[in-house]
Amino acid sequence: MPGMAKNFWKTDPRDALKAGLTFDLSTLDRNGRPGWAGNKSRGEAYMAARGEELSDLQEKLFAEGRSGGERSVLLVLQGLDTAGKGGIVRHVMGMVDPQGVKLASFGVPTAEERAHHYLWRIEKQLPPAGRIGVFDRSHYEDVLVVRVDELVPEAEWQGRYDEINAWEEKLIAGGTTIVKVALMVSYDEQGARLAERLDRPDKYWKFSPSDITTRSKWPAYQQAYADVFARTSTEKAPWYVVPADRKWYARLAVTEILTQTLESLDLGWPAATFDVAEMQAALAKTNQASV
Ligand code: AMP
Ligand code: MG
Repeated sequence: MPGMAKNFWKTDPRDALKAGLTFDLSTLDRNGRPGWAGNKSRGEAYMAARGEELSDLQEKLFAEGRSGGERSVLLVLQGLDTAGKGGIVRHVMGMVDPQGVKLASFGVPTAEERAHHYLWRIEKQLPPAGRIGVFDRSHYEDVLVVRVDELVPEAEWQGRYDEINAWEEKLIAGGTTIVKVALMVSYDEQGARLAERLDRPDKYWKFSPSDITTRSKWPAYQQAYADVFARTSTEKAPWYVVPADRKWYARLAVTEILTQTLESLDLGWPAATFDVAEMQAALAKTNQASV
């Protein structure tokens, strides 16, 4: 019975994984499991139990949105190739009703997207009221790959950190709770996962020759990620940096962060907009009438 699963969180992952002022990406143990004192099978059991809670909370958020509420949640997923972004979508978001989720993936911008401000395509995918939006990559690519590959001049990307902070603050003021998750895999683990993609015909589709090029720029990406955490982990929209070499831990941690975040919204069921007793009486009458 998943409801009975034991909780081995010794520290709330929102505290254990939050990138604060003293955060140092270079010393992060990517094989670690900060805050969780249990093993993998304990983790899987607890994740399933929390998934049921997450699903209930998501339904309340959806109901609130249907009843005139304006709140929404946005889960931003970042991480290099093979970090497990797709696994979070499948295994964490897969525990809730798909009707309540708005998923968007951001790849190389199209010609039309390039003709607009970089936030243009992002804004179009924001979750409507009552929904949990999930971004598989995001506007942060505009200070990651864009910076590493020098797709715009430095003066331009340097200005984006503050711009992103201001833009996110505006979203939050409009009722969106932003949860930013970076899945950080180690160099060796990424190598092993790419090798697996090249070993297995059922994984070829996940591989792109450009993954090798990206991997060869590892230090530049680590520096770009470190700056994202240093410059955009704000009080209102902090980054949670999740060690991702153990997939079960990353999924467990994101489940917990998301569930706790929804719990903090104090969601309830919307009150009836009709007289319940009156409607019960009216229904009873239809049951008595012969058809
Ligand atoms: P995937 O997530 O494996 O489908 O790959 C998407 C690719 O799109 C990655 O290589 C990203 O670096 C790339 N990408 C995403 N956003 C941008 C952007 N704003 N500019 C350039 N490339 C991007
Ligand atoms: Mg890829």
